[in-house]
Amino acid sequence: MTDCFVRVALDHPLSTLFDYRCPSDGPAPVPGTLVNVPFGRREAVGLVCEVTAHSDVPPDRLRNVTSVCCSCPPLSADWLALAAFAADYYQRGLGEVALPALPQALRDASRWDRLFAREPRYRALPAGREALPDSLPVRASALRRLAAALLAEDALFASDARALHPKAVAVLDAWCETGWVEREVVDPFAAGHSAAAPVAVTNPTALPVLTDEQTAALDAISGAHGFAPFLLHGVTGSGKTEVYLRALAHLLERRPDAQALVLVPEINLTPQFEAAFRARFASLAEGAIVTLHSGLAEGERARNWLAAHTGHARIVLGTRLAVLASLPKLAVIVVDEEHDPAYKQQEGLRYSARDLAVWRAKQLDVPVVLGSATPSLESWWLAEQGRYTRLTLSRRAVADAVLPVVKLIDLEDEHRRGRASFEGLSGPLVAAMKTRLERGEQSLVFLNRRGYAPILSCDACGWVAGCPRCSAYVVLHKPERALRCHHCGWESRIPRACPDCGNVDIAPMGRGTQRIEEALAQAVPGARVLRIDADSTRRKGSAEALFSDVHAGEVDILVGTQMIAKGHDFQRVSLVGVLNADTALFSHDFRASERLFAQLMQVSGRAGRAGLPGEVLVQTRYARHALYHALTRHDYVGFATSTLAERRDAHLPPFVYQALLRAEGRTLDAALAFLQQAAAALHDIPAAERVTAYDAVPMTIVKVMHVHRAQLLIESGSRAALQATLRAWLPALRQLKGVLRWSVEVDPLDI
Ligand code: ADP
Ligand code: ZN
Ligand code: ZN
Repeated sequence: MTDCFVRVALDHPLSTLFDYRCPSDGPAPVPGTLVNVPFGRREAVGLVCEVTAHSDVPPDRLRNVTSVCCSCPPLSADWLALAAFAADYYQRGLGEVALPALPQALRDASRWDRLFAREPRYRALPAGREALPDSLPVRASALRRLAAALLAEDALFASDARALHPKAVAVLDAWCETGWVEREVVDPFAAGHSAAAPVAVTNPTALPVLTDEQTAALDAISGAHGFAPFLLHGVTGSGKTEVYLRALAHLLERRPDAQALVLVPEINLTPQFEAAFRARFASLAEGAIVTLHSGLAEGERARNWLAAHTGHARIVLGTRLAVLASLPKLAVIVVDEEHDPAYKQQEGLRYSARDLAVWRAKQLDVPVVLGSATPSLESWWLAEQGRYTRLTLSRRAVADAVLPVVKLIDLEDEHRRGRASFEGLSGPLVAAMKTRLERGEQSLVFLNRRGYAPILSCDACGWVAGCPRCSAYVVLHKPERALRCHHCGWESRIPRACPDCGNVDIAPMGRGTQRIEEALAQAVPGARVLRIDADSTRRKGSAEALFSDVHAGEVDILVGTQMIAKGHDFQRVSLVGVLNADTALFSHDFRASERLFAQLMQVSGRAGRAGLPGEVLVQTRYARHALYHALTRHDYVGFATSTLAERRDAHLPPFVYQALLRAEGRTLDAALAFLQQAAAALHDIPAAERVTAYDAVPMTIVKVMHVHRAQLLIESGSRAALQATLRAWLPALRQLKGVLRWSVEVDPLDI
């Protein structure tokens, strides 16, 4: 036998593969295998992409593979193709895409042994069930806890036992000798061991009777063959989740090995969603439903990832990163709230999980369901052209739950009539909240600005508290008694007097959630007010605890940012108040109104879900604005149609394709000069003839952490021309100097 060579992808910006020798006496890897290799002066885990009989690298410079991860089944050719596509489309190296997509524990060869170690588990035998815990000494509380854990579970894993007590495993082994317990070692990756089994959905009589619209949607999805993209357009509360559950049940019942991928925008915010899946598919084998998101501990994330990769997990419920999970039997993909900007990764590989999900479905020739009450205009336009099949749920699913009545409170008019308002809360809104309080119903107040006040300023000299590191004002946080920069995290104490003129009368301007929380407590006496935003939920798990207070009825008024708008099925909320929405109407970002409309529809959808008539009150200075008009009529279609027409006239996405080059320099001039050279380099690229380059401009917040930022937008009516241009442009950009960092983003969301 002779040596063979492997070409390995490593997490490195160079898009090349690196050659290594595999000695003939070791295991011969196949493509998709993980290997540990020397890289520079350290070792790194890489992914074998090709196995060849020879290498062009001179033999004296070729190094050996250090070790091969034999326990982990190789990643499939489909998965490698997915990584290669994402790398090519988003202009990154293959290794930069493939390796970060793996759980951290797999990327550290020193942890492979532990990760794949076969873990013993213990099961109580009938003799043990008799004897335990009564034959234990009364005071042996640790032993009694162990016994209780053993009896409570079908099987207790050694690591879980060890977490109860450091000597637990020795005790369990002794109990094995006594005949109380049996010990078994399962190898989850052994051939023949498979969790796959036909599923019968639990307790079919308890399922709700589908509405006609749900039935039609389900029939279309279940009847699909091959690649079939669906846009499930369903108003809030129309029972989209029920359609997903039934479609999955249908598939899993027919195909005992099939896997489903369900993406949600933020899994930490949707425990209800996970609970619904676990309850519905309770008959699946243990571990057949796994979650994948960044909130998981590393070990758990690795185990869940491996469960998906080995086919043991039948349903993977995850956030955007799960779109890159290895799922060898993937047979259907669901993207819930497909319009949500959270599907866009905003650092590193800036991918759209929704777009990759559709690509993956196409590659595997399987159906994909994109669900939303307010689809992205990109998806809506594809449905308009007939490229996606539209499925509509136009009514709420629960009998006698109707969409809430949306009314505008015209602040100009309130002002003209001399009606009183209190700290930004208009009279009609306060009155409506008081009525809810009397009826024992809940109100929800939405405003998308956290902190107490966005600006602290001095009336006497015009001083405004700004961040010393960023070109941004700092936000006043009253409970924390701090000024905080929302861009870089800089913090300082609240000054007693104006640092410029000494005036002690410095005042907060504008209102954030903290200030409204304070105002609500005064405006609605007796109400229990709870604030939910990124500040009040900083500790892990605290959001869930706060939301359960709301569900338990321990809160009368909930105030918060978009965190409270998403997904929650509040049973007792009958009023939603919207404050300060107007700012987004006149943003320089052409997507701002689309986002605002989606947010307002979504937050409105929290009202009146369980048969209580819901009311939404939107405070605005622009009561005639078309967006609000569409909102009051729940008219997504009207809004989408007119906005798409505007986009078409203005040559904006989805009618053109865009990419953004960002540069960060020590000075703004350096960043702009880099972008100007980059623009000049486009002249040498033939494909760029079909591409428009705009002027390089400073970013809105031009300075963050002392770094100056500017950007250059390019666009084309042809995706292929844009892609060809980028492919030729990047090597040219790598030759340019003078900035700290630069990056290219394809299909940017925030411009
Ligand atoms: P969406 O995701 O479309 O906002 P959900 O899936 O959260 O809506 O459903 C809203 C509520 O309607 C949930 O409480 C759900 O249990 C209920 N529901 C769904 N389908 C039906 C049905 N066919 N009959 C009765 N209730 C239903
Ligand atoms: Zn001053
Ligand atoms: Zn800052």
